[in-house]
Amino acid sequence: MRLILLGPPGAGKGTQARFICQTCGIPQVSTGDMLRSARAEGTPLGRMAESIMARGELVSDEIVVGLVKERLAQPDCEAGFLFDGFPRTIPQAEAVLEAGIEIDRVIEIQVDDDEVVRRITGRRVHEQSGRVYHVLFNPPRVPDRDNETGEPLTQREDDREETVRDRLEVYRRQTQPLIRFYTELSRRAPLEYRAVNGVGDVDAVMQDVLKALGD
Ligand code: ADP
Ligand code: ADP
Repeated sequence: MRLILLGPPGAGKGTQARFICQTCGIPQVSTGDMLRSARAEGTPLGRMAESIMARGELVSDEIVVGLVKERLAQPDCEAGFLFDGFPRTIPQAEAVLEAGIEIDRVIEIQVDDDEVVRRITGRRVHEQSGRVYHVLFNPPRVPDRDNETGEPLTQREDDREETVRDRLEVYRRQTQPLIRFYTELSRRAPLEYRAVNGVGDVDAVMQDVLKALGD
């Protein structure tokens, strides 16, 4: 299975990606997580990406495509992979095609703007592991503590309400055109396109996502 999860920031891509990857035994390739690790390690790439990410803008296509190609060269991607947060622009999607990276299925998770804002502003993360919680919708057992390690949770700098509106605008301008791109591609390539309603509790959405994977 070679999959793409598409949808606005906060749609629940990362949350669903974890389930899909466990179920299908494929690695999750999240460009957001990769960029955040580079930032935490203080690599030149991470330092460069830091301020762009804090503003909710997109890191350059060339850099992101380079990161993904490197990641796909690892042996664990041979049996498949799930792209989470990539591609995010038409040039990134074209680079995937040009590189001959085949995609079997694109799953779009649909969530309206108000729900996106509620989800993102309540999101809390355990930075070291990438585990994601929500203060109301998916709270940790002990407030503000990671379930596995008990370490403190943090709020991403780009998850404040003022930045979220900007990120939605970036999504609309740069990422939403991918819906049409892949819908059209699905008419002439073996690729399949499925849209799933992302509003509902995590388990209900998961059932729909699994259905969209299997049908
Ligand atoms: P994305 O990767 O698309 O940005 P996340 O998976 O990080 O989204 O989810 C964003 C926030 O919404 C997180 O706080 C997560 O716990 C919460 N969340 C995810 N799925 C749901 C859902 N179905 N209902 C309510 N909250 C959700
Ligand atoms: P979310 O799913 O909440 O939007 P991500 O973790 O996917 O967040 O991305 C966080 C930030 O990392 C983005 O706002 C952007 O700055 C950068 N980023 C992640 N993936 C890409 C990508 N494919 N292209 C460009 N920038 C990206």
